[in-house]
Amino acid sequence: MLNYYNRPNKRIPLIYINVFCRFRPPSELELEHTSNNCITILSPKQLLVRKDNNLDIQQDYTFDGLFLPRTPLDQIYTRTTKQIVENVLMGYNGAVICYGQTGTGKTYTMNEITPLAVNQIFNGIGIGDRDNEIFKIEVSIIEIYKEQVNDVLDPKNTNLNLIENKLKRKNLTIENLTSMSVTSENELNDIIYKGTIKRNTNSTTMREYTAKSHNIIIITIYRYYKDKNILRTGTLYLCDLEGSEKITKMNPDEGESIEEQKLVNKSLSALASVVQSLSVKNDTTFHVPYRDSKLTRILAEYLGGSAYTTLILTCTQNEYNLSETRNTLLFGERAKKIRNKPVINIEQNADKNPIIKELLNKRIEEENNMDEKDKIKQKFENFSIIILVTCNDIIFK
Ligand code: ADP
Ligand code: MG
Repeated sequence: MLNYYNRPNKRIPLIYINVFCRFRPPSELELEHTSNNCITILSPKQLLVRKDNNLDIQQDYTFDGLFLPRTPLDQIYTRTTKQIVENVLMGYNGAVICYGQTGTGKTYTMNEITPLAVNQIFNGIGIGDRDNEIFKIEVSIIEIYKEQVNDVLDPKNTNLNLIENKLKRKNLTIENLTSMSVTSENELNDIIYKGTIKRNTNSTTMREYTAKSHNIIIITIYRYYKDKNILRTGTLYLCDLEGSEKITKMNPDEGESIEEQKLVNKSLSALASVVQSLSVKNDTTFHVPYRDSKLTRILAEYLGGSAYTTLILTCTQNEYNLSETRNTLLFGERAKKIRNKPVINIEQNADKNPIIKELLNKRIEEENNMDEKDKIKQKFENFSIIILVTCNDIIFK
């Protein structure tokens, strides 16, 4: 279960979400059609899209950064994700969202970024004061397919309910979602690998299926500070969205009704509407159609809400996919106008919180066990001294 403890604060400044664009190398399929490039990089942040000398189709876009096929991963990670994870460790919510046409590198990018984020989380926690700080890390993975939210860590657990906190519209619980508690980097990587990477590489059918579903890794970090009796809770969303192309391009499955096919794209069209309305107006009283789909309800906190968000657009420079690339860039241009109002999740008097009660009890148990171990160790040491003395006796006699 996910809990949020946000407290709205009017004085908090609005910040724009960060939007980056990553280009993958041209694919074989693209090169079979054309080797023409439709993107010109004008500066580290600005690009121009055009087709030959067709002035109608010429448009420039400015983002927070552009990544070319040769841009090193550490640079991509530092610019897109590092600060988000740092904020999550402090008790903010944060998201990294990949958006783009199928086959442009959303999953590739997420698979590269996730282990680095996991490493940063455990390093960040490792430098804390062990005696004063107690932490707990939980992971959940969901997929949204045809407007059903499914639990990836427990495949039998499907079609989960979303429950909004009535007082705080954007705070949400995903009912009965499995949360696994993890204590090491390897353990967390392992769960994520089994839940996402394996699914994506297993078979062609599975790959096609995952291309049509939204996949979100949810990592929650609880940090309890004994001296101040406060709890900081930060949640990180790593979102690999469904391919942004129109359904007609995707050869829908045979035997599926049109209604079913529409469901596949429902969340994505709703996302486009949410981004469009947030980009036009940022007044919170303005209607934003979050409720139109499962995805937008789940991402409400991260789009126009109280979290830190980075959007990574993935596309190709090859002219073969020009129209899809233009759609992706247009989506990114709108998203750049979205502003969030980040709020830290701090709970005072946290020893009353059930999660903390459990952690404190566990800590006492561990300390008792340590005491027992120490006693046994000491007994054993005394015992070995006796044996040594005895041996010496034998040798010298
Ligand atoms: P998506 O998830 O957007 O559908 P994938 O991540 O599955 O796309 O990528 C499609 C193909 O392109 C894969 O074979 C992947 O290895 C390759 N690819 C994607 N991005 C890159 C990149 N930046 N560098 C090299 N290959 C890439
Ligand atoms: Mg994918």
